[in-house]
Amino acid sequence: MDTVKWIPGACATHPLKNRESNEMAVMSVTVVGAGIVGLSVAYEALQSGAAVTIIDRNPEGDKASFGNAGGIAVTEVIPASVPGLWKKVPFWIADPLGPLALRVAHTPHLLPWLWSFARVGTASEVLRISGALADINSRVYDDLVPLFNKVGLASDLFRKGALTVYESESGLKRDQPDWDAKRALGVDVQELSAAQVRELEPALGPIVKSGVFTPQWSHVSDPKKVVDVLRNWLAANGAQILRGQVDRLNPTTDGAAITLDGGKVLRAAKVVIAAGAWSAQLARQLGDRVLLESERGYNTTIASPGVALEREVIFAERKFVATPLSIGLRIGGAAEFGGLRAAPNFKRSKALVKLVKLYLPGVKEEGGVEWSGHRPATPDSLPVIGRSGPSRHIIYAFGHGHLGLTQGPTTGKIVGDLLFERQPCLDVAPFSVARFSQKGRRQ
Ligand SMILES: Cc1cc2nc3c(=O)[nH]c(=O)nc-3n(C[C@H](O)[C@H](O)[C@H](O)COP(=O)(O)OP(=O)(O)OC[C@H]3O[C@@H](n4cnc5c(N)ncnc54)[C@H](O)[C@@H]3O)c2cc1C
Repeated sequence: MDTVKWIPGACATHPLKNRESNEMAVMSVTVVGAGIVGLSVAYEALQSGAAVTIIDRNPEGDKASFGNAGGIAVTEVIPASVPGLWKKVPFWIADPLGPLALRVAHTPHLLPWLWSFARVGTASEVLRISGALADINSRVYDDLVPLFNKVGLASDLFRKGALTVYESESGLKRDQPDWDAKRALGVDVQELSAAQVRELEPALGPIVKSGVFTPQWSHVSDPKKVVDVLRNWLAANGAQILRGQVDRLNPTTDGAAITLDGGKVLRAAKVVIAAGAWSAQLARQLGDRVLLESERGYNTTIASPGVALEREVIFAERKFVATPLSIGLRIGGAAEFGGLRAAPNFKRSKALVKLVKLYLPGVKEEGGVEWSGHRPATPDSLPVIGRSGPSRHIIYAFGHGHLGLTQGPTTGKIVGDLLFERQPCLDVAPFSVARFSQKGRRQ
């Protein structure tokens, strides 16, 4: 596999058509979904001169993009399904509030996804997938930083790295192959002693025995602020934001017809489906096979935690994180597969606060705000970015799992290229929806 080059600006040179340019007729682009992915796509389309409409059943409402951990986790290039994972799963599931849960009622629906998840957990598939993840993640700052600067979020990105901490030598040893694989893909990985860890983050208690610092990671001030500012900027700069539930899409010869709940039909030259965990329903109506599940995550945000962290901290053995946001310390994690309709189990948010006390002995838990959201998860940990099977006018941008905030602006850039028939500057084949179908099947 080629080593990915993490060179800022290496791939950011393709020209965008100026909005003021009248070299071509204005193309209408409708984006379904006002999460970070849809808004990033809308931003690129607008920058390229399109007439942009964003449709969301609740544009300002709660969504994964509001309540996530706020990490620009570019160093996360190893997929969830890896060889040997199945040995750990029974232990995680045995703990009712552990890092992984399957809701029994949903399990029959989950089987095709689980089967595919198991199939990609081979050494060769992990190599292929991590290459594709490194490819997209190595571009993230090229796309995210200009977007943040343009819309007024420049001071909301904190490039302070992340610290992964270990409470046992065996934990670090178990993760060593992952760290080696990340290094091989161009990730800067710096091993630290307990003393060095505490120098970086004095609030961490004696339970922490070692750590790994990854300086390329960063975090945002508040993910909700990011989407609010971006959405408002888009509205102020000409994008139309419509409140509506998209029920159906039909390809037409010159674009697509969009049927809203209630029967109203809108038309556009191009439609982008960026509806997060709900995207599969629309893609399936079009005839594409998609394996997409809600991987529900939980967190608690404590406005006055009584301890301070400089950067995001990842608690490796117990699989959760803490991020110092402008609105407080956000403690989050968990992966629950229960479908889109199951009620949240906020005992998970509470359990994470109990756990964090082991690492941050001074933390105060009063006034914590609990939250949960649906990660749009594919079995191979790769997003779906590319044209739909039946129509080149309908483009997919969903399935970003744990990395939607990180990969949103780069997804926007890639989709912008596809909308305007430009060559995307990275290989988009690994992200194609065709990978789920018989013909294009890898899984
Ligand atoms: C606990 C947790 C922590 C996370 N931490 C991180 C992190 O640190 N870093 C990171 O990069 N990522 C993180 N993620 C993942 C990230 O939040 C998601 O990948 C990302 O927000 C997905 O964005 P999206 O725009 O695809 O979907 P969403 O934010 O879910 O937005 C989808 C939108 O589509 C709308 N919609 C859906 N269907 C329709 C329809 N038919 N008609 C109209 N509107 C529709 C919905 O109303 C919604 O507004 C985390 C996720 C969770 C849950």
